[in-house]
Amino acid sequence: MTLHEATARYAPLPIAGSASLREARQGELIALAAEVGRRSLALHAARHDRDASFPADSFDALRQAGLLALGVPAAYGGLGADFATSALVIAELGRHCAATALCFSMHVSACLGMGLIADLLDMTAAQRAEHERHRRLHFGRIVGEGRLYAQPFSEGGAAAAGKAPWATRAHRVDGGYRLNGRKIFVSMSGAADSYAVLCTPDRPGAALDDALYLAVPADAAGLQVCGDWDPLGMRGTVSRNLLLQDVFVPDSARLLPEGMYHQATQRYPHIYTAQAPAYLGIAQAAYDFTVLYLRAELPGMSPVKRRMYPTKQAAVAEMRIKLEQTRALFLCSLRDAGIDPDAEARQRLHAAHYTVMENANAICSLALRTCGGQAMLKTQPLERLYRDSRCGSLMLPLTAELCLDRLGRECLYADGEGDESLE
Ligand SMILES: Cc1cc2nc3c(=O)[nH]c(=O)nc-3n(C[C@H](O)[C@H](O)[C@H](O)COP(=O)(O)OP(=O)(O)OC[C@H]3O[C@@H](n4cnc5c(N)ncnc54)[C@H](O)[C@@H]3O)c2cc1C
Repeated sequence: MTLHEATARYAPLPIAGSASLREARQGELIALAAEVGRRSLALHAARHDRDASFPADSFDALRQAGLLALGVPAAYGGLGADFATSALVIAELGRHCAATALCFSMHVSACLGMGLIADLLDMTAAQRAEHERHRRLHFGRIVGEGRLYAQPFSEGGAAAAGKAPWATRAHRVDGGYRLNGRKIFVSMSGAADSYAVLCTPDRPGAALDDALYLAVPADAAGLQVCGDWDPLGMRGTVSRNLLLQDVFVPDSARLLPEGMYHQATQRYPHIYTAQAPAYLGIAQAAYDFTVLYLRAELPGMSPVKRRMYPTKQAAVAEMRIKLEQTRALFLCSLRDAGIDPDAEARQRLHAAHYTVMENANAICSLALRTCGGQAMLKTQPLERLYRDSRCGSLMLPLTAELCLDRLGRECLYADGEGDESLE
C-alpha cells in the first residue's frame, strides 16, 4: 500500500456547520483540500522540510484547484468560504504539509480581512467606496492571476503582541506612501507576489489603531528579502526577513482603509486564530500516523503489527481523547466567529487557540512515545510533525503565554474594570 492509498482512508475532518455556508458546500471544499493534500502536498512535504525550501509545487496544485481564491467572496469570482470553512480547509491541508497550510492560512487571512470581515466593519460611505475599488483590484489579481499574499507583521518588538505601534513607517507622498522598516519571520519570503505589510502612518501621534495595511508587490524597488532560514520546524515556510527602504506603493495598495485593520482585530478577534488550523492538521496527522503504524499499514514498513499490546491501545485512546477535545473546542470557537463576539466567545477563542497549539505538540509527543524508535527516523513523517508542532505556541500575537495572559485577565475582569488600589 502506498502512503497515498493509506491516507485516502483517513476520515474527513468534521464540518463546523457554519450558518453562512451550506454544510454540503463546506464538505465539498474540505474534500477538495483532502484530494489536493494527498495528491500533491504529501508528496513534497519531506523534501521541502529537509531543504528548508518553499513548497512552490504544492502552491501550484492549490492554484490549479482554485483554492487560492478560497477566502475571496463569490461576488469577486472567489469560492466565498466563510471563516469556519476556511479554517477547516486549512486544517485538512495541514494533515499533509503543515508548512504549506500555515503559509496558505496567511494568504487566506488577507482575503478574509479584505472581504468577509471588512463588510462587517464600521466605515464611512467614502471609505467603503474606496475599499470597494481597492479590493476589486486585489481580488482580481488573486482570482485571475493566482497571486499569493504574505503577511509580514512581526518586527521583533512589542507591536506584534498588540502592545505598541508598528515601527515600520509609511510616509505620505503624492499618490501613495513611501515605506521604511524591517519585518522578521516573513513566511513565503521570496515566493509571495505581494506582502501585506502592517505599518504606522509617519505623522506625529500616530498610534497602533491608526495602522495601515498595505500590499507591497514583490518586485517593488527598495524591497529586499534577507537573513538566513534554518529553523527547528515549519521549515518550508521560508520565513526570512524583509527590508523596506523607501519603497513606494500607490494608494491602491491599501488593503483596508487607514485604521480598519485595528478595528478588525478588536471586533473580529477570531482573525488572530487563522494560524491554528494548520496545527490542528498536524495533531490529526500524528494520530492518523499512529493508527496506521500500529496496524503495520504504512508503506515500506515491515509487517509487524503492534496494536495487540494493551499499553499501545491505552496510548492511542489517550491520543484520541486529546484530539477529540481539541477538535471539539476549536469547532465550537469557529462557530462563534463573527463581529463583536461576547465575553464568553472571546474567552473560548483564547482557550481554543491555546489548546490547539499546545495539544498539537502533546499529541505528536505521545505518538512518538507510542510508536517507538523506528517512528522517529527521518524517513517517517512523524519526526517532522513533532518539530512543526512545536512552533504554534511561539506565534504572536497569540503565543501560549499571551493566550494565558489575555484569558486570565478576561476571566477576572469585565470590560473597563480595574483595581483602583493597585493601579
Ligand atoms: C514558523 C513561523 C512562521 C512565522 N510567520 C510569520 C509571518 O508570516 N508573519 C509574521 O508577522 N510573523 C510570523 N512569525 C513570527 C511570530 O508571529 C513571532 O513574531 C515570532 O515568533 C516572535 O518571535 P520573538 O522571539 O521575536 O518574540 P518576542 O517578541 O521576543 O516574544 C517572545 C515571547 O515573549 C512573550 N511576549 C512578547 N511580547 C510580550 C508582551 N508585550 N507582553 C507579554 N509577553 C510578551 C510572548 O509569549 C512571546 O512568545 C512566524 C513564526 C514562526 C515560528
